[in-house]
Amino acid sequence: MKTVLWFRRDLRIKDNPILSAPCEVCLPIFIFDKNILGDFKANDPRITFIFNKVKKLKNDLIKNGMNLVIFYGCPDEIFRYLKKEGYNKVFFSQDYTKRSIERDRQISEIIDTTIVRDNFLFHPSDVRKNDGTPYKVFTPFYRTAKNQLDESNFIEFPFNYSKIAGFNYDNIYIIENSEIVKKPISIENIGFVENYVDNFAADKSPEYLCERLKNLINNYESNREYPALDETSHLGPHLRFGTISIRELVRFVKTLKEDGFQTETFMKQLLWREFFNSVLYNFPHSEFNNFKNVNIPWENDLKLFEHWKSGTTGVPVVDAAMRQLNKTGYMHNRLRMVVASFLTKDLHIDWRWGEEYFKQKLFDYEASYNIGSWQWAAGTGCDAQPYFRVFNPYRQAEKFDKNAEFIKMWVPELQSIKAGRIHSEDFLFKTHVKNYTRPVCRHKPETRKSIELFRKYFKN
Ligand SMILES: Cc1cc2nc3c(=O)[nH]c(=O)nc-3n(C[C@H](O)[C@H](O)[C@H](O)COP(=O)(O)OP(=O)(O)OC[C@H]3O[C@@H](n4cnc5c(N)ncnc54)[C@H](O)[C@@H]3O)c2cc1C
Repeated sequence: MKTVLWFRRDLRIKDNPILSAPCEVCLPIFIFDKNILGDFKANDPRITFIFNKVKKLKNDLIKNGMNLVIFYGCPDEIFRYLKKEGYNKVFFSQDYTKRSIERDRQISEIIDTTIVRDNFLFHPSDVRKNDGTPYKVFTPFYRTAKNQLDESNFIEFPFNYSKIAGFNYDNIYIIENSEIVKKPISIENIGFVENYVDNFAADKSPEYLCERLKNLINNYESNREYPALDETSHLGPHLRFGTISIRELVRFVKTLKEDGFQTETFMKQLLWREFFNSVLYNFPHSEFNNFKNVNIPWENDLKLFEHWKSGTTGVPVVDAAMRQLNKTGYMHNRLRMVVASFLTKDLHIDWRWGEEYFKQKLFDYEASYNIGSWQWAAGTGCDAQPYFRVFNPYRQAEKFDKNAEFIKMWVPELQSIKAGRIHSEDFLFKTHVKNYTRPVCRHKPETRKSIELFRKYFKN
């Protein structure tokens, strides 16, 4: 029996369930999916990141006596081709978004599929209320998930060598309209160009980031809120593409706990992943629609949206955060909340526009957490911020970037301005700061307007 091992968002050999599966003869593959890549610009740095991780996976497999075939095309066409070549089974790890569930259903009509769980500790239906319904609020979800979590959720899958099938492993197989073209392995041959940005997570291995986490985990709870300290794990992109196994990370955190480290807050963050994965899976309407039954008449001013995107709103903390995102593909969690609140509550722009922009930029982009978090900030989501509680960007900056160190790092126009003034909306309105715009709006009246709108349009 010839079995295909399809790597998707599990780009590693360590603790990978599909490499644990017993096979007589296997064909490990990765597909650059044309349907997904169509959404990316030719120089998107995230494609360079993924391409390099796929090449690393191929090298790691070679070191272990195996190999990887890289395909470019639509998965259904590729599996039809492989079926003709005598492959009658495929193993892959489960994906939970609507689009991937539909893709996998189509594949299962072509070839016998075995689906394993890999990217999350729980299946999104595992953690339920006593009445069997899914949670809509994080805190009770967290309590149940914490109690339910045991060793079976984070067991290690041993690497099992399987004999690989004869294939031309040195080329990319490009499949279009049932035609096969073989080309040398290069990013250009899948229609992209190499582009590197200064993204900390992409530059560092998961092993390095785990060691770094060990040094900061004791103070994670207190320091994680301060962007200038930059004391979060930066493991997001590795968890997203499976260059570290979530189970391995949890086992690592467990050993730290046994050694007396403070690990609770970090573990809680990992359970936020599980929560949002469960929400999107169980309430798929929330991918494109407000989770709550509320229909806000967003103003969607294009000019203001451009200011927000380019980090030229005149609101220092928002601009610093957006410039960091544009330059590095990363934004600190506190700032993600601030800019999302600002876009929806101060600029009255639909959360879906912000969600889409984050999708185009974030290295750690994950539909379920991004959508869930945007809806949280907009007040339309499950377990959302109450609509009358709005982030004041100036007070947030004062609290979490007191000396404006982070702001000055990204907004050099404010280098010579004292922190107290940077945190003063009045100062920024009244003073012309060279090369820096006046704020595009006044915080209080705009958010008052938002609160009134929400009060009017809220149905439940
Ligand atoms: C508007 C908005 C959009 C967001 N979009 C994304 C996204 O697309 N992808 C993403 O991974 N995170 C997203 N987050 C959550 C969070 O901001 C990032 O996970 C975190 O900043 C990544 O940095 P880190 O890896 O250093 O995280 P750490 O603080 O070190 O946390 C470790 C890991 O826990 C998980 N995690 C932490 N916080 C959350 C959370 N609130 N929800 C779900 N998982 C969490 C992530 O996998 C993260 O890598 C979003 C938050 C907001 C407010």
